[in-house]
Amino acid sequence: LQVLATTDGLTNLANRRSFDAHLEKEWLRCRREKNSLGIILFDIDYFKNYNDHYGHPQGDECLRRIAQLLREFHVTRRPGDLIARYGGEEFVIVLSDPTIELVARSAEQLRQQVCLLEIEHEASQLPQKILTVSIGYAVETDLNSISPLALLNRADVALYRAKALGRNQVCEGTAHSQGCITGLDVR
Ligand code: GH3
Ligand code: MG
Ligand code: MG
Repeated sequence: LQVLATTDGLTNLANRRSFDAHLEKEWLRCRREKNSLGIILFDIDYFKNYNDHYGHPQGDECLRRIAQLLREFHVTRRPGDLIARYGGEEFVIVLSDPTIELVARSAEQLRQQVCLLEIEHEASQLPQKILTVSIGYAVETDLNSISPLALLNRADVALYRAKALGRNQVCEGTAHSQGCITGLDVR
């Protein structure tokens, strides 16, 4: 029952309920230990078009492939890290005590790795005609200054900006500056 209640049936990733609980708990722990906390939030580009063009079952298959990529993604190694399906075609990664550089690099690597899957997407409005994602991330080192929800909101605002700037991009959400880092050298 516990597994059923915390797992997303389609992708086998942690579900939204599990993510909410985890973020709250991890924020408390990191704040107590004076650690940082990072969130990477991403959303598939033009996924409605994908479903309309290829059908819902193939859309589901895409979500499973993305989930598998996330499971193989090396960045989540610490006990406090979590990968979850946040909503329909949105995923989220919680990173415990990361540097800002690690989160930025990981987000850009993730964007590139989704491109490297080369999942055909003829109905995408981007010229590449492959499945892409837009990513927003946020990191906070002083957790006394921000609630878990506000940190998530920063990542969400950044994701929205990545969409508005043309999709297939990574944007950073901070309290002050806001920039996009797509094209960062991640080798
Ligand atoms: P954008 O680039 O702005 O994100 O465009 P979009 O079309 O991806 O965004 P929108 O929010 O309009 O559409 C999200 C789509 O995701 C709509 C819905 O059909 C699809 N979706 C959500 N959950 C699932 C699912 O479990 N399976 C499938 N196949 N599709 C899903
Ligand atoms: Mg969406
Ligand atoms: Mg989308």
